[in-house]
Amino acid sequence: MNHPVDHSDKAEAALKPAGQGAIGGFLRVAVPVPLRRLFDYLPPTEGDLPQPGTRVRVPFRGHHRIGVVVDTPTTPEVDPARLRPVDQVLDQDPLWPTALWHLIRWAAAYYHHPEGEVFAAALPGPLAKGSRLPEPPRLWRISDAGRAVNPASLRRAPRQRDLLQSLMEGHQSEAELRTVAPNLRDPLKRLHERGWVAPEAGARVADPEVAPEPGPNLNPAQSEAVAAIRAAEGFAPFLLEGITGSGKTEVYLQAIEPLLERGDQALVLVPEISLTPQLLTRFRHRLGARLAVLHSGLAEGERLAGWEAARSGEAQVVIGTRSAVFTPLPRPGLIVVDEEHDPSFKQQEGFRYHGRDLALVRGDREQVPVVLGSATPSLESLYNADRGRYRRLHLPDRAGGASLPQVGLIDMRGVGAEGGLAPALLREIAAVAERGEQALLFLNRRGYAPVLMCPSCGWTRECPHCDRPLTLHQSRRMLLCHMCGHSSAIPVQCQQPDCGNPDLQTMGVGVEQLENALAARLPDVRRVRVDRDTTSRKGALEAKLDAIAEGRAQVVVGTQMVVKGHHFPGVTLVGVVAADGGLYSADFRARERLFQQILQVAGRAGRAERPGRVWVQTYHPDHPMFEHFKAHDYAAFAAEELEERRAACLPPFAPLALLRAEAPDADAPRAFLEQARDLGEGLGVDGVAFLGPAPAPVERLQGLYRAQLLVTGPDRTRLHRALGPWAPALEGIRAGQGLRWSLDVDPGDLF
Ligand code: ADP
Ligand code: ZN
Ligand code: ZN
Repeated sequence: MNHPVDHSDKAEAALKPAGQGAIGGFLRVAVPVPLRRLFDYLPPTEGDLPQPGTRVRVPFRGHHRIGVVVDTPTTPEVDPARLRPVDQVLDQDPLWPTALWHLIRWAAAYYHHPEGEVFAAALPGPLAKGSRLPEPPRLWRISDAGRAVNPASLRRAPRQRDLLQSLMEGHQSEAELRTVAPNLRDPLKRLHERGWVAPEAGARVADPEVAPEPGPNLNPAQSEAVAAIRAAEGFAPFLLEGITGSGKTEVYLQAIEPLLERGDQALVLVPEISLTPQLLTRFRHRLGARLAVLHSGLAEGERLAGWEAARSGEAQVVIGTRSAVFTPLPRPGLIVVDEEHDPSFKQQEGFRYHGRDLALVRGDREQVPVVLGSATPSLESLYNADRGRYRRLHLPDRAGGASLPQVGLIDMRGVGAEGGLAPALLREIAAVAERGEQALLFLNRRGYAPVLMCPSCGWTRECPHCDRPLTLHQSRRMLLCHMCGHSSAIPVQCQQPDCGNPDLQTMGVGVEQLENALAARLPDVRRVRVDRDTTSRKGALEAKLDAIAEGRAQVVVGTQMVVKGHHFPGVTLVGVVAADGGLYSADFRARERLFQQILQVAGRAGRAERPGRVWVQTYHPDHPMFEHFKAHDYAAFAAEELEERRAACLPPFAPLALLRAEAPDADAPRAFLEQARDLGEGLGVDGVAFLGPAPAPVERLQGLYRAQLLVTGPDRTRLHRALGPWAPALEGIRAGQGLRWSLDVDPGDLF
């Protein structure tokens, strides 16, 4: 720990009054800079010493940063005469309850990431940038005098009129009132001055905004699960396994209910893509609770409002994506992680934490139960359950008695698929449409075709910045790189200098082409395509989902966008168009992901009284994975995969960390990583190996050359014993100055 010596700011330092340290301490601050250490400052000249957990604005190398006080030591690490005072103290009180505060500090240490950047990532944007904490939202009560007023008489003050009307209807929370008058402050103040409304003294929890709707009677497996979760005291991790439609969400809801009666709060983490209006409506109606929603699609202000509603206790249920794991809750009672296997819980840049893993650590620190739910749990979670670390809860059937879909494979070898569809699948689709039912075709590939090539010389059009072919988007009349976004015109002929062949061909099939093939072969069947390209306009996705729900669309063609979170009761046929990508991939999680994804898609088929049918097109029908798939036996598949992971010393049997580096210069990443490896090996931690460096699987991306170094350890303790001194030492490698590098603990993939 050291103070940055900064000569440009000498004048400022010289202004500091003498004897600063005398008022009782120094400030040790986590500053959001890419350095794994803390910095000492003098407290401000006036006022109390800020407490740990409050934000301060500090001078740092000629700039100003928003840091977080982590300690108030009585002696600084360096000569106090060299310290400068903080510019400003931004908070009166710590921003986080103690347990969460410790979790965040622990996470910085576990992921070996600069603590100041971790705090910044844990805060809503405006607070990380130094905005004032908003006033805690209050509750408002209408007075007898207010009730006697006829709102219509407030014609000249429409905001007061609307607010009064809303209060008369029973709404109390500022969040709700803001929906009728976004700028509350002035009109509420006027109403208050007139004696018609008053802030609720002390009360932080409003009556439910809507009366909760009763849930269905639980089936025995659900009842058992709910009872187990309700009976848990302190930290208790559960793994709730059940296929899509088995009633997991209903279990969460009924486990949350009694908690709200006690005034406790629930935190529900879901993958980004599942955070749909349908889900929110369901929670709102069933619980009648005030929700706070937190995800990356929100405007910063909305996100801050949700965060503050959670922190003040106004929100009873917080639903959010991975970063919501850092939301302060004064009265946490339960944490749910739905679709716990979903890769989106792992942050892929900056502070690379895993939301599910931190949810478990948080549950332990806050002493609350944690429910991990999934149809296809991650191998990590299954392994933990096998070892007795998690309690298993199982929902074996579909709620409401629907049966599992039948699964069949379509052998694509030599069938002459047209636009990616085997004739057999086309016939099935036609039959389904004929019966007035719906089909869903899943293909996780945007655009028309992933490759444009010259059949005469083999030339393919690659991205100029990445080692990847460009995808042909016919409807947008361009070639697009799905890695970096580069776009270019569709060439009219081969660009190979001595070829120039004008008959270029596409290879592979994307959803656009699939849709075209349907149009050509089944012109009378009404189609809808759901992918990023067809839903970018606001409201477009909702319109398409409505068309599906109302039966106006007979076939849905979609990427993974269509798979998660949406319920399509009319779908009785699911076609998985291309399932082979993950079978023989170099990534150790590829097969797990593939199986999970296919089961997820299959979960859309067959609801209630209509059993569904799933067809999977493959060129490898004999692959052992498909045996388990046909038998709906994820457990058997997982057991086999786990054995392979054990043999290969891969997670969850041995922990990994990955050091990635990238630079415009092809040699620089390797030079840096070689030095990093030597440094690591020099630490001599028994059993920890530094493997590489090796080029990244996509070696050039966005114009940068990428390489990586894999660190493996026999167990977490020893891996972290090595990473502890290694990570800060990496900052000092000279060859690392001109390039970007990152350390990824428990990487989601090795790409
Ligand atoms: P999952 O979260 O596992 O996909 P849900 O909780 O969403 O399952 O349940 C699927 C459907 O079944 C929902 O429409 C839900 O309302 C309904 N459902 C859940 N539990 C029951 C039950 N015990 N009886 C009747 N219907 C139920
Ligand atoms: Zn050519
Ligand atoms: Zn590119």
